[in-house]
Amino acid sequence: QASRKPRYRVVLLGDPGVGKTSLVNLFAGVQERDLLDQHGGAAYERRLTVDGEETTLLVLDTWEPEQRGEESQRRSHCLQIGNAYIIVYSVTDRDSFESASELRIQLRRARQAEDIPIILVGNKTDLVRCREVSEEEGQACAAVFDCKFIETSAALQHNVDELFEGVVRQIRLRQGGK
Ligand code: GDP
Repeated sequence: QASRKPRYRVVLLGDPGVGKTSLVNLFAGVQERDLLDQHGGAAYERRLTVDGEETTLLVLDTWEPEQRGEESQRRSHCLQIGNAYIIVYSVTDRDSFESASELRIQLRRARQAEDIPIILVGNKTDLVRCREVSEEEGQACAAVFDCKFIETSAALQHNVDELFEGVVRQIRLRQGGK
């Protein structure tokens, strides 16, 4: 029986090692085999109640690094299918922060006319002494790129629920308060 509750596809983007899989694992329980086959990678589904309304998020963790400058089909597919995007970098890795900006530009190019929710996430805030990107830099970048911003620590389970609830709120805002 198909659920009548809204279901949204959220795609995780970001360099390898920034913590995408850790974040989605904390958030979601069920990993569905048919979804996994369908998306050729990891897909996670979870129902959550935000502001008293239930939603189902399907989170796709299928992003892969660019191979020899080639635009893979999977990458462009990822950029097309999301109802919302989470772009993750590690606050301990400045290169991953640069990549996040690059991804934001690619996403804008791929979905030109659309106003899709994008959340920029600075993960690994627990690694205080290894920090290379300040919270202010993250905020400034999000402001320039017109997206939301949050810092998280998958290790400390800090701000992970807030991140996904924020995604749901951003999607709803664009649907006229639904
Ligand atoms: P992905 O390649 O982006 O999916 O990154 P993973 O989720 O596989 O994480 C890469 C490595 O970083 C793993 O060893 C994780 O345990 C570690 N990691 C992820 N998030 C955090 C975090 O918030 N803090 C710390 N200290 N390590 C993290």
